[in-house]
Amino acid sequence: MLPLKEDILRSIYDAFAEWSAGFSFVCSKNCAACCTQNVTMTAVEGGVIHRLIRENGREGWLAEKLQAKGETVRPWMTTNDFAGACLQGEDVQPEEYGNMSPCPFLENGCCRIYEVRPFSCRCFASEQKCFSGTSALLPEYYLSASTAVMQIIEHLGQGEYWGNMLDVLSALCDLPENRSYVTLLPASFADQSRVQVIKAKPLPGFLLLDEEMDKIAPLLDAIFTRKVGEKTVESILNGR
Ligand code: SF4
Ligand code: SF4
Repeated sequence: MLPLKEDILRSIYDAFAEWSAGFSFVCSKNCAACCTQNVTMTAVEGGVIHRLIRENGREGWLAEKLQAKGETVRPWMTTNDFAGACLQGEDVQPEEYGNMSPCPFLENGCCRIYEVRPFSCRCFASEQKCFSGTSALLPEYYLSASTAVMQIIEHLGQGEYWGNMLDVLSALCDLPENRSYVTLLPASFADQSRVQVIKAKPLPGFLLLDEEMDKIAPLLDAIFTRKVGEKTVESILNGR
């Protein structure tokens, strides 16, 4: 993965964090009922997690966590696949929930990869305390905005792996920079995980309602006009 993609990803995370700071969420440290094995992400996000693990010499820890993961669900469509089908007028249903057991990166109520957690974790939030089995309380437009940001991040990683966080991380274990996993994981581990992931797709358009746009447009504007080097995120994502 190119470092440029990591820079763009961080810009997107920052823009979302600034926009969402205006909400009254009750989320706090040690509150983690939302931390399940049902997290999806892109290979770009997986690359950032692997980088942190390498820099901290925690490959043994990650190998142990990945081997202990529960049964994961192979998604049949990405967020952009779903958006594209909806925009074509197809009658598609969102995917069923996957494995809702606790995320293996949660230890003593804290996320051990917090600073590099993927966007699906960054947008977990609730205006009232939620517990295992209950839903978060969020304004509809927050959910729409989160989905739009997921679509942009998927566009950034188009053509690369997309799927359950634990499968994407496992599938990336045989990249040259991750060669230390050769001695830490079974030989076919990455290959088996690759079967569980699909490919990220380009952005087909957003699923935003006109009445939400005045609240969400500032977020999209903040993302697209951010500069990474000499160019805006929008021009880089458009290949200009
Ligand atoms: S989304 Fe719910 S479970 Fe997760 S931190 Fe917020 S209040 Fe806690
Ligand atoms: S990666 Fe961290 S924030 Fe995300 S589900 Fe796991 S423990 Fe929670």
